[in-house]
Amino acid sequence: MTYQTTFNPFDMAQQQLDEAAEVLQLDPAVHQLLRQPLRELHVTLPVKMDDGSTRIFQGFRIQYNDARGPGKGGIRYHVAETVDTVRALAAWMTWKTALLDLPLGGAKGGIICDPKALSPGELERLSRAYIRQVGRILGLEKDVPAPDVYTTPQIMAWMADEFAFQQGYNAFGMITGKPLALGGSAGRGDATARGGLFCLREAGKALNLELPGATAAIQGYGNAGSFAHKLGKEMLGLKVVAVSDSRGGIYQPDGLDYEQVYAHKAGTGSVVNFPGAQNITNEALLELDVTVLIPAALENVIHEGNAADIKATFIIELANGPTSPAADRILHERGAYVIPDFLCNAGGVTVSYFEMVQNAYNYYWEESVVHERLDAKMTRAFWQVHQLATEKKVHNRLAAYLLAVSRVAEAVRLRGWA
Ligand code: NAD
Repeated sequence: MTYQTTFNPFDMAQQQLDEAAEVLQLDPAVHQLLRQPLRELHVTLPVKMDDGSTRIFQGFRIQYNDARGPGKGGIRYHVAETVDTVRALAAWMTWKTALLDLPLGGAKGGIICDPKALSPGELERLSRAYIRQVGRILGLEKDVPAPDVYTTPQIMAWMADEFAFQQGYNAFGMITGKPLALGGSAGRGDATARGGLFCLREAGKALNLELPGATAAIQGYGNAGSFAHKLGKEMLGLKVVAVSDSRGGIYQPDGLDYEQVYAHKAGTGSVVNFPGAQNITNEALLELDVTVLIPAALENVIHEGNAADIKATFIIELANGPTSPAADRILHERGAYVIPDFLCNAGGVTVSYFEMVQNAYNYYWEESVVHERLDAKMTRAFWQVHQLATEKKVHNRLAAYLLAVSRVAEAVRLRGWA
């Protein structure tokens, strides 16, 4: 799925920042500071396996910038995780929290592992081992992780429990995306997809295009992608004609029913071979002639090699980093409307922030209140980006960077760091 074997997400994140810094004429010291993480913790994790052996795993927590508030960002379990991927994701979290004007900074964590090859017991011991090492730099006022690729509310619960033992008291606000019974927030489960769809709704208004009945293709069928299927229909009346996961995709021009596809994946482990649909590759899915394309899996799937073949009008980036800078330019010239990742998928961190707030005052909101507040935050950020992009005649990602970087740079200056 990756185009360039040498693709480095952190190089891409730095290039995006450099472009914004040039337009903003950012002070060189501030620019240099924002090009690097402030802090990194690399950890080695011994884990007892079910067969009695001990395996050693490697993990990271990267606190990119906390000028505007405590670090915030998910933890990924992935076999191909690299420190540069985690650095890039931590940088994007910094821009994301600033763009949504949340009083938070950016961070990210990861463990190099294949979670599908671990038993539940091994997964629990690995998650607890991570907190034993990284817990010292976490906390409601320091840095607050959350779920990301292949991490779940159950994993957040084990981590919150391990942290509680470390501290000697329950400190649920140290991590978000927890189950409801352990201080989770109503509305967190589908927040990423819901937030992206609020943006798409507003983009439809901005471009004066009708969305009900519009066709959509979704790459990735995990938390972000599967909820995009469900809510795309419920909220905007989209007709989802193609979806995929790591094993491949399916296409049915008459539309795919969410309940049935979800049940098929739950039963077989994949969306492929869904009865009545045609199997397609992940690459072919991206190039389908649909109105809305939703990358919701991994980085760098839209690149110089395929950008010219992407036909969708709207690219709704629920994944982080799905589009390379070269592809961005190609899509912009063609007139595609990209809702960039750190705006589009910010629903997750926004409701995570609401979860932190609820944990801090130990009072919990109704789901309808969460949806309403999420809508307000996403809609506001969307129009700020759209208006700046229109005014400056730049693509949406650059406009989003201009807003976010200038906010972080202001905090850095006010604090006297540069
Ligand atoms: P997840 O683990 O729930 O699901 C990932 C999905 O991607 C799975 O369906 C998997 O099969 C699929 N996938 C993996 N490799 C693939 C490949 N090579 N081709 C196609 N599909 C592949 O993860 P998630 O939480 O849904 O995250 C997906 C993306 O959304 C990531 O980029 C993540 O950083 C981003 N994101 C998630 C959240 C959140 O709240 N979950 C918030 C912001 C951004």
